[in-house]
Amino acid sequence: MPQEVRVRFAPSPTGPLHIGGVRTALYNYLFARQNGGKMILRIEDTDQTRFVPGAEQYIIEALTWLGIQFDEGVHIGGPYGPYRQSDRKPMYKQYADQLINDGWAYYAFDRPEELEAKRKEYEAQKKTFQYDCHTRSQMQNSLSLPADEVQRRIESGEPYVVRFKFPVDTEITVHDLIRGDVTMNSNLLDDKVLFKSDGMPTYHLANIVDDHTMKISHVIRGEEWLPSAPLHVMLYRAFGWEDSMPQFAHLPLLLKPEGNGKLSKRDGDRLGFPVFPLDWHDPKSGELSSGYRERGYFPEAVVNILALLGWNPGTEQEILSMDDLIRLFNVAHISKSGAKFNVEKAKWFNHEYMQMHSDEEVTEMFLPLLKEHGISVADNADAALDFEHAAFPHQYIVKVCGMMKERINFISEMWDTTSYFFVAPNEYDPAAIKKRWKPGMTTHMAKVIEILNSVPFEYDAIHKALLDDYIVGNQLNMGQVMNSLRLSVVGKTVGPDMLTLVMMLGKEETIRRVQRAIDTIGEQEG
Ligand code: GLU
Repeated sequence: MPQEVRVRFAPSPTGPLHIGGVRTALYNYLFARQNGGKMILRIEDTDQTRFVPGAEQYIIEALTWLGIQFDEGVHIGGPYGPYRQSDRKPMYKQYADQLINDGWAYYAFDRPEELEAKRKEYEAQKKTFQYDCHTRSQMQNSLSLPADEVQRRIESGEPYVVRFKFPVDTEITVHDLIRGDVTMNSNLLDDKVLFKSDGMPTYHLANIVDDHTMKISHVIRGEEWLPSAPLHVMLYRAFGWEDSMPQFAHLPLLLKPEGNGKLSKRDGDRLGFPVFPLDWHDPKSGELSSGYRERGYFPEAVVNILALLGWNPGTEQEILSMDDLIRLFNVAHISKSGAKFNVEKAKWFNHEYMQMHSDEEVTEMFLPLLKEHGISVADNADAALDFEHAAFPHQYIVKVCGMMKERINFISEMWDTTSYFFVAPNEYDPAAIKKRWKPGMTTHMAKVIEILNSVPFEYDAIHKALLDDYIVGNQLNMGQVMNSLRLSVVGKTVGPDMLTLVMMLGKEETIRRVQRAIDTIGEQEG
């Protein structure tokens, strides 16, 4: 029977989760769901110096918002818990001991200042010091010191670390599902610290022990971990776990919009787009980093955007729901090269998802903004539009949203796009006045009022009387008259079909606005 698919997202709680990390979580999730497997959230907090309060909650909240669900994890428990490495601390020492006993690791007593001196000594010779198979014999460790001395130091409580002992001149191959075989020679690799005498493992040891004991089948993670993968493969070998070693897939980096270098928070600040899923208030500096959620992105859009950064379904289809992604995702189609973040494209995705929301849903999102602008929903659904008290029937707002949602990317843009449906303009675009409000325009606008007062208030009747009979019949400039009417009603020369707007606002409000424009703008000099 094939092995059960079990994948994990294993962030370190060192700050807000970067969208690159979110994409890693998403790809793991898609892979788990596609294979009927399990998705696990493990918190890797062995490096307590980098621990940031609130980061773990942030990670959970962000992934929940995006609809990335877990089957086991720090927040929900599960059969392989605990899922926070600091809570697993007592488990790791036996594994460090096992490696030492089997000759795969050794105690090292070098003090920080001794290591620093070594580094300086190498630097002076224009070389770089590495603790490895070439240098370990010159250092203070259980390979170079007599056994009783090692014993004495440990018993006297001298601080030590446990280092991995790479074999000499050995080719180590990592099979990567995206990159194929990646081979490195052990002579180039440093004897990484696995464990410290304070009882805490380092990332490398905890990660391998946990992946093994949690029965992880596939490790899907960022490319920045590829250089560590040979050590991880060797750890599986050293533990005798190679048969059940997970398969690896290292995801390409997310690149700056310009395509040079890794996408950073600074790029986001510079180009005005978030690189975090949610707003993050740094607990130390108080600095705010903005998030997709607060910027008005839909979680479905963010998922769609991230899924396509580094992977594509092999067709032209761009709008993909979570279910589509689960169906179509294929690790083998993940690209090897970095994926460029495209801000304009991100907005386009949000626009597309806006259109998929029903007019009612868009209205629900818009209502709080309307309230901020002093607009209320009339209690009586059949009430007339009440411009004076700024109260409008729900259905009117729904209609406005339905008409105008195609013009916005974010709900925050809805007020600026629709304010004239709710309040009369109190100023008129000077450039539009200059261009459209030609001499004689007050007479034409007075005629508009006369027509509205004299014909039935119906689209076709107004169209015939105003456009056909008055404007065309008198060979007037259609653009000038209709745009002046628009200027009167909207304040600018934007908006939907003019007569549709007139029909929506109603006869009285339209006439009031036109009269006000006549009074305010007045007759212009030629
Ligand atoms: N804790 C690591 C990180 O923060 C996880 C790396 C891995 O997935 O092995 O990225």
